[in-house]
Amino acid sequence: MVADKAPDSQNKYNDKLDVLKSTQTVVQIALEKLGYPEEVFELLKEPIRMMTVRIPVRMDDDSIKIFTGYRAQHNDAVGPTKGGVRFHPAVTEKEVKALSIWMSLKAGIVDLPYGGGKGGIVCDPREMSFRELEGLSRGYVRAISQIVGPTKDIPAPDVFTNPQIMAWMMDEYSRIDEFNNPGFITGKPIVLGGSHGRESATAKGVTICIDEAVKKKNMEVKGARVVIQGFGNAGSFLAKFLHDSGAKVIGISDAYAGLHDPDGLDIDYLLDRRDSFGTVTKLFSNTITNKELLELDCDILVPAAVENQITEENAYNIKASIIVEAANGPTTLDATKILSERGILLVPDVLASAGGVTVSYFEWVQNNQGYYWSEEEVEEKLHKVMVKGFNSVYNAAETRRVDMRLAAYMVGVRKMAEASRFRGWI
Ligand code: GLU
Repeated sequence: MVADKAPDSQNKYNDKLDVLKSTQTVVQIALEKLGYPEEVFELLKEPIRMMTVRIPVRMDDDSIKIFTGYRAQHNDAVGPTKGGVRFHPAVTEKEVKALSIWMSLKAGIVDLPYGGGKGGIVCDPREMSFRELEGLSRGYVRAISQIVGPTKDIPAPDVFTNPQIMAWMMDEYSRIDEFNNPGFITGKPIVLGGSHGRESATAKGVTICIDEAVKKKNMEVKGARVVIQGFGNAGSFLAKFLHDSGAKVIGISDAYAGLHDPDGLDIDYLLDRRDSFGTVTKLFSNTITNKELLELDCDILVPAAVENQITEENAYNIKASIIVEAANGPTTLDATKILSERGILLVPDVLASAGGVTVSYFEWVQNNQGYYWSEEEVEEKLHKVMVKGFNSVYNAAETRRVDMRLAAYMVGVRKMAEASRFRGWI
């Protein structure tokens, strides 16, 4: 017997958790339904460009550590590619590729003049000092500088990256370019050309989708019991917005554990105590697991953490009637099918989390024109864009009789396929 070979069922299970494979599957079905020939899928199934870099950083103890980083550019037929850079120990090449495809779909759904891009560095920023993070951020920009830029590919924040990291990256790029170039990256601090409303934009976009989804289900946000998985940028702002609009946030979690109170958690206290990576549960002893959190009795569930959280193993136990995906890829395809058969309204990631890149686009426009907008202006524009995106996906799901994920892919892929065709690529 071959002892080190995974059993077949395990291989199949791993395949289901392969985010690139599942994304490709849905892209293929979406293109088929839209009537595109096979070569369109051949073009769109992988990024057109993928760069792997090795970044040496001098650590605080004077040793040199070499980090691996990636930048994927999915398709630039519509415009420059755009998407965040994540700093996380679990980053893989495949994941970055899938994330770049999702960015293309987001841009398509909310109709931004971009293709998708994504970057990632394998590292654990929770264990690095400020100076080490600066070295890593600058080193990454030097390594990828030839393929990025305000008219080529525009990075932004993602998991465990923030405005300070964007500032270092912008400064490094401006040095290479020999002039101040704020449009190279978005999610910057306001004083360096950042946009009002960018930090809370992903969460704002999610709340707009929740508002639209509850209308479809004849429910109300006020008094709704909400569970949010993840207390990072999206999860924490979202908890605040929902709490302020009268929803009862009964469960939240971080990477380590979850907190539950059926009468509603003290969100302001938790926000005050969370660290910059969204960790807060370590302060409590009466915690629940992340698995238990997802299965709590609630009305609205928002996975706002990492991939593959709702799978065929727990999809039957989910109690929520609405799921809005603030994270990228939190639900597997099997689980999507189960949830849709159970009549649960699932607002997919590529739509629900598009608020971040939308305000990033506003930031880039402001940088390009050198004229800056007020917070109200940004919010009003974001609202319009998200409502329009939600309705185009919802209507496509209704008329084509498909679930919201497939509908979102169909809406998202169209412009890119058309632009690639007009350019004569396919
Ligand atoms: N990282 C965010 C996302 O996944 C934002 C990307 C951006 O602002 O360009 O959508």
